[in-house]
Amino acid sequence: MKKKILATAAAILASLVPGSLFSAEKIKVLIADGPQGAHQYQETTPVLKQLFTKVPQFKVDHTRSSKESCADGSYKPDFNKYDVVVMNEGYGAPDWPKGTQRAFEKYIANGGGMVSIHAANNCWPNWKEYNKMTAIGGWGGRNEKSGPYLYINDKGEVVRDTSKGKGGAHGPQHEFELVVREKEHPIMKGLPPVFKHGPDELYDKLRGPAEKVTILATAFSSKEKKGTGRHEPALMTISYGKGRVFHSILGHHVKQIKEGSFVTTFLRGTEWAATGEVTIPVPKDFPNQKFE
Ligand code: ZN
Repeated sequence: MKKKILATAAAILASLVPGSLFSAEKIKVLIADGPQGAHQYQETTPVLKQLFTKVPQFKVDHTRSSKESCADGSYKPDFNKYDVVVMNEGYGAPDWPKGTQRAFEKYIANGGGMVSIHAANNCWPNWKEYNKMTAIGGWGGRNEKSGPYLYINDKGEVVRDTSKGKGGAHGPQHEFELVVREKEHPIMKGLPPVFKHGPDELYDKLRGPAEKVTILATAFSSKEKKGTGRHEPALMTISYGKGRVFHSILGHHVKQIKEGSFVTTFLRGTEWAATGEVTIPVPKDFPNQKFE
C-alpha cells in the first residue's frame, strides 16, 4: 500500500515537473533489429535509441539477431522484461527461431506492446501471427493470399480490397501530407489535422490480414509519384489479444526518423503501445521541431 501511495505521489510530481527526478516508473523499451536487405539498421537504431533519451518516460535496451543465432535457435530475447518492443527489422530478415516466435506471440497476446516502423512490415511474410500484429505489409512474395489491400476511399470509408496483386510498392521519395483520421485517439490528440512529412518513401499497396486495425492517419499516394491514387494507411493501431501495436510506415533512413512528424508520432505511439495512454506533449512547433 505504501508503495502504491509513493508511486501515485511520484506520478503526480512527474506530471507537474516533466523530466524531473520524480518521474514515475520508466517505460522499458526493447529495440529489435538484425540483418536485412534494404535498410541501414546499424545507422537507424542508434538514432531511435537517442530519440528515447529526449523524453523522461523511457528506458531503452537493444537486441540484434544474426543469421547464426536465428539458425541455431540461440536468439531469444527476454521480452517479458519490457513494456514494448520496437521492431526496426526489415526486408529479408532471417526468421526468428520458432521458440522465439512463440514467446513473442505470447508476450503480445498477454498485453505486451509492439511498434512496427517502416520496413518492419516487409519481413517474415510466412510468420502468420506477426502479420496479424502488423495488419498489413509488403514485398517478400505477399499477394492476395496474404489478405486484402487496405486503404481509405474518397468518401472516407475503409476499403478492404481482395483483388489480386502484389503487396507493397513505393515511388520516389517525396514530401507528402499526413491526414489525421482519428483525432480523438490518444496518439493523435492535439496534432494538427494535416501535417507534412518527408521526403520519404510512401508505402502503398500494403496488404495482410488487416484484422482489428484502426487507421489513425493516411497519406495520399499520387499517381504523379508513381502511387496508387488512394489514401494509404500511414499510421495505424492494431490489437492482438490483450496487446497493443502501433504501426508507422514512415522512416526510411536517419534523415526521415529525425523529422518532427516521425519523432512525435513514434514516441507517442510507443508510449501508447506500452501503456494505453499518452503523456508526451505535442511540441508547439510540430512538425518543424528540430531533433539533434
Ligand atoms: Zn525504405
